[in-house]
Amino acid sequence: MSAARPRIAVVGAAAAGLAAAEGLRRLGWDGVITLVGDEPRLPYDRPPLSKQVLSGAWEPERTALRDSAQLSGLELDLRLGTRATAYDPLERTLTLDGDGPTVLRCAGVVAATGVTPRTLPGADGIEGVHVLRTLDDALVLRRRLAVPGRRLAVVGSGVLGAEAAAVARALGHDVALVGTQNTPMERVLGAEVGGLLAEVHRAHGVTLHTGQAVTGVRTESGRATGVVLADGTTVEADDVLLAVGSVPAVGWLRGPGAEAAGVDLSDGLGCDEFCAAAPGLYGAGDVARWYHPVLRRHLRIEHRMNASEQGLAAARNLLAELEPERFGERRPFAPVPYFWSDQYDLKLQAYGVLAGAERIEVLHLDKDPLRLAALYGTADHAVGALAIGLPPRQARSLRALVATPSTWPEATARLTEAVDA
Ligand SMILES: Cc1cc2nc3c(=O)[nH]c(=O)nc-3n(C[C@H](O)[C@H](O)[C@H](O)COP(=O)(O)OP(=O)(O)OC[C@H]3O[C@@H](n4cnc5c(N)ncnc54)[C@H](O)[C@@H]3O)c2cc1C
Repeated sequence: MSAARPRIAVVGAAAAGLAAAEGLRRLGWDGVITLVGDEPRLPYDRPPLSKQVLSGAWEPERTALRDSAQLSGLELDLRLGTRATAYDPLERTLTLDGDGPTVLRCAGVVAATGVTPRTLPGADGIEGVHVLRTLDDALVLRRRLAVPGRRLAVVGSGVLGAEAAAVARALGHDVALVGTQNTPMERVLGAEVGGLLAEVHRAHGVTLHTGQAVTGVRTESGRATGVVLADGTTVEADDVLLAVGSVPAVGWLRGPGAEAAGVDLSDGLGCDEFCAAAPGLYGAGDVARWYHPVLRRHLRIEHRMNASEQGLAAARNLLAELEPERFGERRPFAPVPYFWSDQYDLKLQAYGVLAGAERIEVLHLDKDPLRLAALYGTADHAVGALAIGLPPRQARSLRALVATPSTWPEATARLTEAVDA
């Protein structure tokens, strides 16, 4: 490989980083592409970790995003088990800690380092306390759940906690789901749909402790034996899963260079509508908080589809910045956000933005309370839509409905039309 070939580095070798690396090559970048990942594994997919991997339905290999032959076709300078420790956007130098510090000069960088799980104060290192972010995390918890009759306390009733509770319960374990929210996933879905979800979990035998913070993990001889709630109650458990949110992995970007370049690291990597954080520095996936030009606000989205779409968008815009005459103009990144969640036999699918809605309208499709479509939005406009128990074609039709914000009368009329079609 010639030393004179310019280099683009993609930091983070998972969904967003892989999409960026593939995008760079497919769009015609013929310089070096260095893909850096601190995990030792080839890029793999995370959504199955709390579903098929945890339940034992899938072996770990099935989560691979590409096989080695597909990766070698990209002619990457692939550096796995290697951590980026610093990036100076003014000098465009990236420091890696592989077998010793290495400094690489880069024409550009795509930051796709995702998030790391939050834990509880004092809980780190306690045996039997788990988080669920990596394949190894999932395999450790899965081994514990392979032994029948365990008691699992899941702390955090967001999407990850709710999914893991559902899997553990389906495996026959005694499961307690503890959360500060009044119902599972309430912050995203609202109280009414959250209430339905709570009923589903209860009907499957999960014990819900709602509106309750966990103040600590109880231990005996260094091993978790339960969690203590704010009201003093102890929930006894053999294992504790902490699903209490995450923190963007931006530590490697901090430094005087970033400050001088005006890089905003206040909640992830702050980017403009082109996913640019500074000249030559682009963000993608869970770590990136970018300005959505249609919704006219900054968003940081921890959804699988966004990781791929933004990885490609960041790659395209970085190339357009580096060589506009060859790669054309940069394009604003304005996707319709999408996420799904599987709990028991329920599939939830959501388009647009649901969290923090001021107004929610739920449309029940028949007597089954778990067949519904709902709209979410501000007082004036619907900007998000949810489908539970809808056939795929109808669920997909909700995407167009929230592609641009529409007034409530308009949105509700279109929703009725979509579910009647
Ligand atoms: C258990 C689980 C279930 C999920 N289920 C769903 C779902 O059902 N639906 C949905 O839409 N989304 C789901 N998600 C979210 C989705 O998986 C994420 O949005 C997506 O994986 C984000 O991809 P990413 O590449 O941006 O970040 P990540 O997947 O976090 O990848 C970032 C990578 O960068 C590495 N890294 C971090 N710092 C450095 C550094 N300094 N140097 C080198 N490498 C570094 C990390 O180790 C990691 O490998 C789920 C997530 C989890 C954890």
